[in-house]
Amino acid sequence: MALSRRSLLQNALAAGTVAYLKGCARAGDAPDANQDDWQPAYLKLEEEGKLAERVERANRIFEKCTLCPRKCGVNRRRGEKGFCRASDKVVVYSHHPHFGEELPLVGRHGSGTIFFSNCNLRCVFCQNWPIAHEGRGRESTDERLAEMMLDLQRRGCHNVNVVTPTHIMPHILAATRIALKRGLRLPLCYNTGGFERVENIRLLDGIVDIYLPDLKYMDGGLARRFSAGAEDYPQRAQESIIEMHRQVGELVTDDNGTALRGLMVRHLVMPNRVAGTKDFVRWVAGNLPKSTYLNIMSQYRVEHQAFDHPLIARAITAEEFLEAMEWAEQAGLTRLDERSIAQRDVFRRRLGR
Ligand code: SF4
Repeated sequence: MALSRRSLLQNALAAGTVAYLKGCARAGDAPDANQDDWQPAYLKLEEEGKLAERVERANRIFEKCTLCPRKCGVNRRRGEKGFCRASDKVVVYSHHPHFGEELPLVGRHGSGTIFFSNCNLRCVFCQNWPIAHEGRGRESTDERLAEMMLDLQRRGCHNVNVVTPTHIMPHILAATRIALKRGLRLPLCYNTGGFERVENIRLLDGIVDIYLPDLKYMDGGLARRFSAGAEDYPQRAQESIIEMHRQVGELVTDDNGTALRGLMVRHLVMPNRVAGTKDFVRWVAGNLPKSTYLNIMSQYRVEHQAFDHPLIARAITAEEFLEAMEWAEQAGLTRLDERSIAQRDVFRRRLGR
């Protein structure tokens, strides 16, 4: 049963939440979204009686962990740990409305981010290294994670944005189902570094509303060097992004421009062309619609172990960012993030172009 906008609102209010839904609108070349029957994907799956089985299937992966391409095969149920150092418990660093994400996620009241500890990629330049590398945070349960999701909804956030979710994906599914039964109606945003197994992304079909993957590198050798041996990163990330797009399509927003569903791809420009931006934009243009939402990011900074790697031991230059944006335009990509366009214009003015 598709919920009307009114019944969605009634459900949300019954659960003590604020009204957040303004109805969908077509954005750019995004596919049509009927404003009266939008609902979070996981609600439909629950109504079809399929969500519990997905949670169960995901949970079984902990017994011989293949949640990410490292395929450690450890039994996390028995306390064994693989590369990511995560147990079978979920560890949360923080949950709060976040205003630094892409504008369609932030809206007026913020993106409801939940930062998970540990990471399956562990890049040497990680900007969240105390959380991702050192695992700082507090152990939680699926029940408490569900409460965090509901808390974000009560605070008016426009989505539940799970950051670095890959290694604890089964907990996210379980918590989403618990929260759904208590009134959660926000889009679920899967905010991943991109080092995913396409088999596991398929498990999320009909659960995740918004995918927010990085595509960090296009060269396996550089991925190996700067992301702990993850030589297959480009291939794994690319095939996963194609699957994500198959599931949710292009970004669809409501009347206020707030994201409801779809794919948003991030790419951080790195010094000395390490990120392979020219190949990246060509890959997007050749494999996804040219109106795919793309955030080409300028905020690379030297962090953590990046000081030990001369190739990436400096910020990017204005010229490096401008060439990245020019490549994107030359590739015919039409839906670039507003803030990256603003940054491009600042750099252009600075360089007198
Ligand atoms: S999620 Fe962790 S334990 Fe599982 S395969 Fe990946 S790195 Fe290994």
